[in-house]
Amino acid sequence: MNNELFWTADIGGTKIMLMLIDRKKSVLFREKIPTPSRPEPEALVEVLKKEILSVGKEIILPAGGKTAKLGISMAGFVDHRSGLVHQSPNLEWHSPVPLARMIGEATGLQVTIENDANAAVVGEAYYGAARGFQDAVYVTVSTGIGGGLFLDGKLYRGSNGFAGEVGHIKPFGKNRSCKCGGENCLEAWASGSAIACHGADLLGKGISGSEIKTAEDVFTLADSGNTVARSIIHFAADNVGIGLSNLVNIVNPSCLVLGGGIAFNREDFLERISKKIFENAIRPAVNVTPLKIVRAELEPEAGIWGIYALLSGQVD
Ligand SMILES: [Zn+2]
Repeated sequence: MNNELFWTADIGGTKIMLMLIDRKKSVLFREKIPTPSRPEPEALVEVLKKEILSVGKEIILPAGGKTAKLGISMAGFVDHRSGLVHQSPNLEWHSPVPLARMIGEATGLQVTIENDANAAVVGEAYYGAARGFQDAVYVTVSTGIGGGLFLDGKLYRGSNGFAGEVGHIKPFGKNRSCKCGGENCLEAWASGSAIACHGADLLGKGISGSEIKTAEDVFTLADSGNTVARSIIHFAADNVGIGLSNLVNIVNPSCLVLGGGIAFNREDFLERISKKIFENAIRPAVNVTPLKIVRAELEPEAGIWGIYALLSGQVD
């Protein structure tokens, strides 16, 4: 039992982070591989199978070391009990996929799947920025917006695993479709994709004269003094802040961890979100036990460490 090793994988839209970790948290293997460009479930299973089986042959496991479990963290609406991915807009999966069973049959491993923000809040609560807090919320603002709830000292998943989906609260504007199939979700108006989309609509061209394609293009224009770019970013940050103030009112966390490419890399964005939360949440929810708003510490491996903690059943 003490020599048990754990495979962990974080499946993103463009890359997969794969790690093999022992009971003492030592990483025996770490690799980033590209997500298949057309990520049909079968292609994804094949990539994981190939990598895991070849590593199993190549690396020398510690004496008695045994790999039996694989934990997966991925964006999407995931039922952790059945291992069914009901929907993963990032991978363009719009009908249920029995991913845990498929990967289990291909690799011989016992497979657990968790929503990436759910895994990340566990990672941050056990080993990162929310360590020591009994009630913490993790929110990622990157291409999309995701959330995970750690309440009363444990992960809160809701009845099917879909709790914490703060990116899909609404409405935040008019006439904008969201990847979830709904309309006018927070994610459709304030995520990295939304900033890019808003930038392309209002700015047309970026600093080098090329088309605006990414949120980073809008941030670069804003940094150069472009007031329209700046207002697009302020609009997104303010809406994230208002959305999260609602979450604070409902959940009353003592720690709110902000991660994801945009919130993590842009201090000014994070500050504006924090300001809006403090302005809009009910006073006691931010004052009685002062709400701590912090940057994630484990990026980009928060999901990996969360799924590891869940898989190994260990807290330190
Ligand atoms: Zn949505």
